Amino acid sequence: MKRQPSLSAIPDFLHSFANRFAARGYRCLLVGGSIRDAALQFDVQDFDIATDARPTDVQRLFRKTIPTGLQHGTVTVLYAGHQIEVTTFRAEADYSDGRHPDAVEFGVSIEEDLARRDFTINAMALDLHTGAFIDPFNGLEDLQDRLLRTVGSPSERFREDGLRLLRAIRFSARLDFRIDEETHQAMRTAHDALRGVSAERVRDELLKSLSARSAAQVVSTLDETGLIGHVFYEDGSAPTIRYAASDRTRNLDLIPSDLPLVRLAALIALCSEGNDVLEALRVSDRLKLSNHERGILTRLLETGPVNDNQLQTDRDVRLLLSRCGSGMVQEISCFSAAIRVDAADGLSERIEQRLREVLAEQPPLTVRELAVDGRTVMNELNLTPGPVIGRILQGLLDFVIEDPSRNSYEQLIEKARTIA
Ligand code: ATP
Ligand code: MG
Repeated sequence: MKRQPSLSAIPDFLHSFANRFAARGYRCLLVGGSIRDAALQFDVQDFDIATDARPTDVQRLFRKTIPTGLQHGTVTVLYAGHQIEVTTFRAEADYSDGRHPDAVEFGVSIEEDLARRDFTINAMALDLHTGAFIDPFNGLEDLQDRLLRTVGSPSERFREDGLRLLRAIRFSARLDFRIDEETHQAMRTAHDALRGVSAERVRDELLKSLSARSAAQVVSTLDETGLIGHVFYEDGSAPTIRYAASDRTRNLDLIPSDLPLVRLAALIALCSEGNDVLEALRVSDRLKLSNHERGILTRLLETGPVNDNQLQTDRDVRLLLSRCGSGMVQEISCFSAAIRVDAADGLSERIEQRLREVLAEQPPLTVRELAVDGRTVMNELNLTPGPVIGRILQGLLDFVIEDPSRNSYEQLIEKARTIA
């Protein structure tokens, strides 16, 4: 039974926060994700507030504020150690481009504000002064029924903002809710709406979705709605990430949910039909991943799933760690376990333990950890700067990975002479 959120469940600091509004005659309501999660008895961390005060009025009410999105009416207030997002009641007029409303209108009622929101479970409000619970679209009932449904006509709402297609998938996976039939139908036909959504918004939403409890469920909904091609290709064409809903994608859930990039890497490895590394680069471009994110993805796919041969000798393990980076132990372990067809219980832990055992000896794994650097090699060997120095250092690293006790100045300079 989901309980209707009431004032008694609200933390003290929010009451005194709300009083600031009341003192000036403004309304103050808890809305959106915070009220949804409160009804689900989840621990609420982010508080979203709606008010009839204008953004400039909100800035005057509090000492510390950040103008997060003034044009959309949002001000972040720093209060009692919390960051509270305060948004002025607003309505949105026409979305001709499918991503930005043509105009944002302030001075509307809370009911109109709730009507612009995406899903019924995200369109409830609790008045922090009167305790009134405002639920014009029966969000609480949908929460009881574990049902995700748009506010108003699904195809219109998706056409207005294509990101909502992905938000639907994220919320249904995160909460394990069924998608309402009419909403699901619209998701299967409103694909084009995603074209208008920037790559950055698609990326953020995809990575958040892959952090849901079940990434396999996310992928299977992307697949059954036909949205998968649009996520991985700008024009929605020629999906090479195929067989997405195959049995093997269930293995994605062997990867911890706080490693969404590793889940993405595993999805590419399990479902792409071509060169995994090229596919990782293409997906990184499409989603405008950061260099850091791209590095994780490509290194995992270059290294591939670790097999038992690669774990036998300490030298094999050092080589592996040197290639994929010593900071990637957990990533490489769970990635490997998810990809390997012979995946057995505890495989990820076994790989991780073996890698950590070798790391504990603190072997040099990068050129920077060698007992000599490029400058000393140049001085000792009378060489001038050039690509040959890099090749010598790489040769020295291979030499040290064979046997870490070789990492001394004398041994390395002698070896450098033979390489040169
Ligand atoms: P989360 O726990 O992921 O933060 P949330 O529901 O708080 O979930 P936010 O993205 O923080 O999601 O948005 C806050 C609220 O703003 C939502 O609950 C919803 O009412 C509204 N909202 C956010 N994005 C959209 C959108 N694209 N279209 C319509 N309403 C939206
Ligand atoms: Mg939120």
